[in-house]
Amino acid sequence: MEVLINLGYLVAAVLFILGIKGMTSPKTAVRGNQMSSIGMLLAVIAALVDHNVVSFEYIVIGVLIGGSIGAFMAKKVAMTDMPEMVATLNGIGGGASLLVAAANYLESQKLAEMGKFAVSYDWSIAVILSILIGAVTLTGSFVAVGKLKGKIGDSNKVKLYKWIVKLCFVTLIAGAGYFAVESQLNSDYLILGLIVVCLILGVCLVMPIGGADMPVVVSLLNSYSGLAGAAAGFVLGNNGLIITGSLVGASGIILTSIMCKAMNRSLTNVLFGGSMAATAGVSKSENDAFYDGKVKYSSADELAMLLESAQKVVFVPGYGLAVAQAQHATRELANMLESNGTEVKYAIHPVAGRMPGHMNVLLAEAEVPYDQLVEMDTINPEFSQTDVAIVLGANDVVNPAASKDPASPIFGMPILDVHNAKTVVVVKRGLSPGFAGIPNELFIRENSLMVPGDAKKVLQDTIGALKDL
Ligand code: NDP
Repeated sequence: MEVLINLGYLVAAVLFILGIKGMTSPKTAVRGNQMSSIGMLLAVIAALVDHNVVSFEYIVIGVLIGGSIGAFMAKKVAMTDMPEMVATLNGIGGGASLLVAAANYLESQKLAEMGKFAVSYDWSIAVILSILIGAVTLTGSFVAVGKLKGKIGDSNKVKLYKWIVKLCFVTLIAGAGYFAVESQLNSDYLILGLIVVCLILGVCLVMPIGGADMPVVVSLLNSYSGLAGAAAGFVLGNNGLIITGSLVGASGIILTSIMCKAMNRSLTNVLFGGSMAATAGVSKSENDAFYDGKVKYSSADELAMLLESAQKVVFVPGYGLAVAQAQHATRELANMLESNGTEVKYAIHPVAGRMPGHMNVLLAEAEVPYDQLVEMDTINPEFSQTDVAIVLGANDVVNPAASKDPASPIFGMPILDVHNAKTVVVVKRGLSPGFAGIPNELFIRENSLMVPGDAKKVLQDTIGALKDL
């Protein structure tokens, strides 16, 4: 039976890997997702037939409670809140690994008393890693959720947090080392103390990171949750969990590195206080003063006229497009332009929106052809030959301050060079800043026009106006 169980885990692992491979291209992504789901089903079945399973009643109760909460949350969550949901799930994953390892520690004490368990270094290292990484992921993720929701602002106590982080690290190395080598099963207070230190560490690691650095933090916490899971797999001796946790850990690290590259930052710079860490954005009055009388406003009718004569149009989606749920209206307008002989493309910035791949997912929902979605490096040289760049609810990812102003919190982040287009039309509701909380010089440039309003409404009005022309 054990051979069959391990074979089940192996096949599940192969399906996970093929699934991830499939997800590297939009064309094979759905199949990739299906393969991963089948892999997960196999892994669950293998875990259930495993003779270590204590009681099926508890499993059924757990599946029912957890499954209902998950289904309710997934149904209720708005597309724009997905990043918070992902961050919450990372935190819950970390918390689960923490609890599993702690329970195993307590159970091992009892078994050892009965002479049925012998402590080994492998076990103690796995237990302590699972508990520590799990605890950091738990609180770190919940602070990240608070930041994504805008409930926790950027902090001006960066130095204090850095000191606490250093102190926590020293305590952890000493405490974890002592646990693994010396105290092992007689460490109730030590483990409790280390959990508290890690919970504090999670908070203090994420608190000073701010503004546009959040994508990196969320993907890093995703990786932590995988590592904690893999460590929990070692604790339980469950190969499926080890493999899944390692895959999540590794893919999270790769995603983190892609995100860092997209923002032109190193991971240490993001984590331990680069320029973005200490900024808190501008006040409303400073923001209003920046734009005062300098924005040229336009209308949907004028936009329709501009588009009618344009030969090349690039749509630049951002977070506001997701808020407005304007993806279908965008596609409809694009179809009209194409039937008029206009070349249409979509410029995709890697950190546009609030989660990696946000714009791709959104536009895929409206069945925008994949070959029209063009990555930043490829589309940037094309802006100078673009007649109209339509910025739909994007802000930070098109802010020229990123390349011009060393004092800017987003300085160094590569942007979409929409300002090089012949005409830039910015569609947003007002002059509110984006996620990084700073004004955008693009909106007052000579070749920029702003059509104020909800992106969906403006696009629908433009479609109407084009039909009337
Ligand atoms: P931004 O957050 O910079 O700007 C979004 C803009 O959309 C706002 O200025 C807002 O202005 C406008 N908007 C909101 N609602 C609507 C609406 N209904 N219709 C039209 N416009 C609307 O978005 P970007 O996509 O440009 O940049 C993403 C930012 O988020 C970056 O700073 C990135 O680092 C960060 N981030 C990204 C993550 C990721 O993984 N992708 C994760 C976490 C953060 P107004 O209110 O005036 O309409």
